[in-house]
Amino acid sequence: MNAWSQTTLDHRTVLVTGAAGYIGSHTVTELLRQGCRVVALDNYCNSSPEVYRRIEGLAGTTFAHVEADVRDGAALEKVLSNHDIDACIHFAALKSVSDSIIHPLRYLDNNVRGLLVLLRVLQRYHVHRFVFSSSATVYGDPVRVPVAESAVLNATSVYGATKLMGEDILRRLAAAPAELEETWRVAALRYFNPVGAHPSGQIGEEPLGIPNNLMPYVMQVAAGLRPKLSIFGGDYPTPDGTCVRDYIHIQDLVEGHLAALKHLLDGGASLTVNLGTGRGTSVRQLVETFVQVNGVTVPYEFAARRPGDVAQYFADPSRARELLGWQARHDLADMCRDAWRWQCSQPQNHA
Ligand code: NAD
Ligand code: UDP
Repeated sequence: MNAWSQTTLDHRTVLVTGAAGYIGSHTVTELLRQGCRVVALDNYCNSSPEVYRRIEGLAGTTFAHVEADVRDGAALEKVLSNHDIDACIHFAALKSVSDSIIHPLRYLDNNVRGLLVLLRVLQRYHVHRFVFSSSATVYGDPVRVPVAESAVLNATSVYGATKLMGEDILRRLAAAPAELEETWRVAALRYFNPVGAHPSGQIGEEPLGIPNNLMPYVMQVAAGLRPKLSIFGGDYPTPDGTCVRDYIHIQDLVEGHLAALKHLLDGGASLTVNLGTGRGTSVRQLVETFVQVNGVTVPYEFAARRPGDVAQYFADPSRARELLGWQARHDLADMCRDAWRWQCSQPQNHA
């Protein structure tokens, strides 16, 4: 946790959009555990309210939740007028890179218009502390690794462009002259590759249909739900020929959000930081670690490269350490162990 901030979340009220999703559900659990009041908002387009029961069980407390779309200004007005909100963490977005290329308007409308509608209502209710889910995808194909926040920004997909637009909107807002001393303070958090699950095995990632991402696919092969993993490309210019990414444990990612939130509530300045471990892991290393720590088999074959994949990127996480006192603590073995515990705890997750 942020070692520097003296702020506690006790008795603060945070609006969390996209709260029923993968990262939202883990973040709500930790906010509640730290005494924060949470107002959860989601339209369940990629999740289910079922998860709230499990969060309440883990946190030992209840919280308010609302079914609403962030583009529905009237619904947001109602939420803001019913609750005295101190800050907002905005997770709600569509997140598939490939889908965004096929449905650009859907992504622009949901992710960019959704952000604008939310910001206007927050402004009206004087809520100016805002944590935004950005992504390492804003770096495109980085010229050098590790990637620092100062690297060239170049989103290659519509999804990535919605994150860049979101960051740009928020940067302009934070730079606007203060009105009645109500300056916007924004934390844009660029996530690398979040994986794993809550150590209890009670909540985790629940992809609908065939998983796009590596870890959920590996988990489903290990569970016998799919016959084998296809490794997309074995001839990249990396040490073992497979792509390198910076996988970060979901609990570390959550702690990064809490550190950023405390920083803003403390009166800290707006910031943009990477949330990654600083370590690169290849597809083969991830599969081998998963097999080794969990004692399972994961058959795989090499397949053609996936269009749009970048050979390697991993974070320079030093700015988050300097500004927030945050750094990732879990290693790849922890990520694989916790991911597998979650997979095993759900009856629907087995063959
Ligand atoms: P998720 O799909 O599990 O969660 C997103 C939640 O937002 C879902 O519950 C969905 O129902 C909800 N939602 C979407 N559009 C909405 C709308 N218009 N109104 C209300 N609710 C809406 O995704 P996640 O992995 O938890 O991602 C959370 C955020 O982090 C997203 O903004 C995503 O772009 C970003 N991000 C995720 C990753 C990753 O690998 N998971 C990486 C980088 C950035
Ligand atoms: N990958 C793979 N097989 C899969 C899914 C992913 O080989 O079934 C590879 C993918 O090509 C990439 C890495 O695993 O090199 C991480 O992919 P993921 O989609 O999880 O993250 P992203 O590419 O968005 O960083």
